[in-house]
Amino acid sequence: MSLRIYNVMSRQKEEFVPLTPGAVKMYACGITVSGDAHVGHAYQSVVFDVITRYLAYRGYDVTYVRNYTDVDDNIIKNANAIGVDPMQFAEEHIVTTDAQMDALGNNRPTVMARATRCIDDIIEFIKKLIDGGHAYVADTGDVYFKLDTFPGYGKLSHINLDKNEIAVRKDTEPGKQNELDFALWKSAKPGEIYWESPWGRGRPGWHIECSAMNMRFLGEQIDIHGGGRDLIFPHHENEIAQTESVTGKPFAKYWVHCGLVKINGQKMSKSLGNGILLRDMLAQYDADTIRFALLRNTYSNDIDITDDFFPVAHRHVYRMYSTLAAAKDADKSKVDDTKTAQKIAEITAEFESAMDDNFNTSHLIANAFGWFDFIDAELRKPQPTYDLNAIGEHIVKLFGVLNILQQDATKYVADTKMEFLRAKDISEDFINERIAERARAKQERDFARSDAVRDELLAMGLSIRDTPTGTVWDVKL
Ligand SMILES: [Zn+2]
Repeated sequence: MSLRIYNVMSRQKEEFVPLTPGAVKMYACGITVSGDAHVGHAYQSVVFDVITRYLAYRGYDVTYVRNYTDVDDNIIKNANAIGVDPMQFAEEHIVTTDAQMDALGNNRPTVMARATRCIDDIIEFIKKLIDGGHAYVADTGDVYFKLDTFPGYGKLSHINLDKNEIAVRKDTEPGKQNELDFALWKSAKPGEIYWESPWGRGRPGWHIECSAMNMRFLGEQIDIHGGGRDLIFPHHENEIAQTESVTGKPFAKYWVHCGLVKINGQKMSKSLGNGILLRDMLAQYDADTIRFALLRNTYSNDIDITDDFFPVAHRHVYRMYSTLAAAKDADKSKVDDTKTAQKIAEITAEFESAMDDNFNTSHLIANAFGWFDFIDAELRKPQPTYDLNAIGEHIVKLFGVLNILQQDATKYVADTKMEFLRAKDISEDFINERIAERARAKQERDFARSDAVRDELLAMGLSIRDTPTGTVWDVKL
């Protein structure tokens, strides 16, 4: 089996063959830091984090560049609204976002690029476009890309310009020759932040920064270009036009886009006020739970965050950690090493076949439910014939690609139970006292009383189970 990736450009799954054997150059469009990171940013960043981890698992040496757009209209507007310098505003949001992405369990990209640190590269790039006749300087000092000089425009989004499929925005930019031309350099309005350029004071447009940063950090051609699906048009279409006009070569070999996030079936938007901030998600759920919830979906699909989206994920994660913790203590007296090795090989094959199929984490997690069912069933036998701890440890190793289940299982289970008790204001002493009361009732053959104790605990969300070494309690999340 080999890795196959759905290429948005060709609209089909293609075998992954990088430009240079053994190495992968990947770029994913990052965040415009005009506000706090939200669940959409979290989703996109986790998807590309997992893609880099799986490419590394497959033995590739991955160079992953992710950018921050740290100057744009909204950053300037939002900074001005609270009387802060826009550069300081952007800097503070980048520091906060980096910390949140770390807490979410993402590896840091190889290069974390910033538009304002690549202004020289951007200016050089624009100069090349002007020299090649692909861009022009308007009287206003703005520079525009001349769209009709790039005949391949629309090949990624499959938009047909002649058919007027694009709802043409009202032209608010007086220097444009054609309404579809787009800005490469924007002249500074009075009082706005600016950089000096051959065309006067101004700042880069959004699209050009990604072309220039790709060129600077990865070169003329890259293997994978990623982003959210909302970036296909016009952002990625414009990146292609800019880069290919300069290089004359295909820009990215595979275009990979992740789906969008809905909240209770509705599009997430500022006006609806239904956005979920990453900060709030991290305050409420652990990174395992958030990543599990996001990755249970196939990355190219939209996700719909309903009220039970994270709680259900938390339940699954807790169950998996519980199984791993129990597997550590499983009886090993009848273990058959050959059978264990076969089971491990089978699990690896299922893992790789799901991930090789366009990074299908949804399929992988469905398979994983089967692996945990298997361990749970074996755990119920007094003398399992598989080394359940070895199987558990192997699953943990594979789940490193999702960066889930990497915590100490026993501790995770204990912490989750304590958190549950704290939230419900139940003391452990109380539970132990009720368990002792039930044992006394059983001893006195007062089964009505022992059942009543069990039901009382159940009503509080606590289950009890009798084992050869005594009664144990668990929480029902
Ligand atoms: Zn971009």
